[in-house]
Amino acid sequence: MTFKAERINPIKKIISESKTAVIVAHQSPDGDSVGSSVGLYHYLVKKGLEVQICHPDPAPHFLMWMKGTETIKNAIEHSEKTTELIENADLIFCLDFNSMSRAGGLKNGLLEAKGTKVMIDHHLDPSDEFHYTFSEPSACSTAQLIIDFIIALGGEELIDVNIGEALYCGMMTDTGSFRFPSVEAHTHELVALLMKKGLKPYVVHESVYDTNTFDKLRLHSFAINEQMEVVDNKTAIIHLNEEDLTRFNYKKGDTEGLVNVGLSISGIKRSIFLVEMNGIIKISFRSKGENNPVNVLASTYFQGGGHANASGGKWEGSMEEAIQRVKSVLPKFDV
Ligand code: 5GP
Ligand code: MN
Repeated sequence: MTFKAERINPIKKIISESKTAVIVAHQSPDGDSVGSSVGLYHYLVKKGLEVQICHPDPAPHFLMWMKGTETIKNAIEHSEKTTELIENADLIFCLDFNSMSRAGGLKNGLLEAKGTKVMIDHHLDPSDEFHYTFSEPSACSTAQLIIDFIIALGGEELIDVNIGEALYCGMMTDTGSFRFPSVEAHTHELVALLMKKGLKPYVVHESVYDTNTFDKLRLHSFAINEQMEVVDNKTAIIHLNEEDLTRFNYKKGDTEGLVNVGLSISGIKRSIFLVEMNGIIKISFRSKGENNPVNVLASTYFQGGGHANASGGKWEGSMEEAIQRVKSVLPKFDV
């Protein structure tokens, strides 16, 4: 996607006139939200701004190798500081989310903030809470849009290895390592550009995927062996209770990727993962195919939303009820 000059020029002017910028991304940070934040962070620092990344909550350990992640402040550990930074920033970038309701504890501060709010995102249905909205639902990741954004601002020569690794990580994690239908020729053109700037893709793959703990693999093994069922011949469901997590010394991020395992079974069109955490049931939905929108399922019945083939939601009640509810509504979404 190329950002048109008439849309980029006002932002270019605002960046050149701003002293301070804050970068925010959605709750429960993932590879795309962290990679996009860090990639844009390095660029804005090079442009001479005083920049701070403020996230609603901490990111999982397997993303913290990216250079710049050590500067991130999260609202759980730094509630007052993040509130103050958002209140005083000239410029606020909102990355990888479409509505302030996805910003967790930072939501009210963001709504009240005086600074110019610029959203860059690839989720459907952007809200009107931002001054400038760069929403492109066809893009495979926000990270891809950040590269386009930097290029449109005339900043290509500032792209370096740190920016490249972070933005490649965002693209890689949101595309299942460049395999989802959202990947375009343009995605690979941008990867080629990042490689010319010094990116070594294997470094990012190893940093994200080859840093498992034994406990994490044992948890996955338990989930597949004991907690997975296939219903209606096309839906795989895995559930984990809080005590299962405790048994395998759960660390944030340890269930990452589990929902995709179900989808790898031949003939399976939907995969659903339910996990009990802090008394609520968090649900992840994944699907295959163009007419298989799990985001509708998530938003209609589970207070959630997301992309057509990857979405999430929650259930406030017991695991048994949640699974029952999932099974009872599945036939309404026949695939
Ligand atoms: P995950 O299953 O990895 O938690 O989430 C997959 C995708 O679903 C996310 O990238 C996000 O787009 C969306 N998503 C997850 N949880 C929620 C939620 O509670 N509300 C909304 N609107 N989207 C969600
Ligand atoms: Mn994303």
